[in-house]
Amino acid sequence: MASATESDCIFCRIASGEMGTELIAESDQHVAFRDLSPQAPVHVLIVPRQHYASLRDVGPDDAGVLADALLLASRVAGEQGLYDGGYRVITNDGPDAGQTVHHLHFHVLGGKELRAGLG
Ligand code: AMP
Repeated sequence: MASATESDCIFCRIASGEMGTELIAESDQHVAFRDLSPQAPVHVLIVPRQHYASLRDVGPDDAGVLADALLLASRVAGEQGLYDGGYRVITNDGPDAGQTVHHLHFHVLGGKELRAGLG
């Protein structure tokens, strides 16, 4: 479900500025900040200001939020110096994918050779 914010959602609280988390980039619809438990030298999360539990909750009327997320992911990758070596952008949706925070987010990973494969 999409909703403006959810008071018990950690990423809503970060996006609103309530947590004091350092933002490394912003767009109209997203904030970007470093993952607490980085899996690569650069590990940034791209998080919509609006609450969506996961990718499946973004309908056609909100498709622009996905374009904005990927454009910011690319901008952050460039700003973090990842264009030469390359980078990966992923989102986890649901338990089999290992989603742990139920607010849509995209991981931007790079700065080392990432493991090949998708599963
Ligand atoms: P996922 O497993 O795709 O749901 O990813 C959730 C990510 O959020 C994990 O990589 C966590 O390390 C990260 N995370 C959880 N809480 C915070 C936080 N307060 N600040 C930054 N990253 C966080």
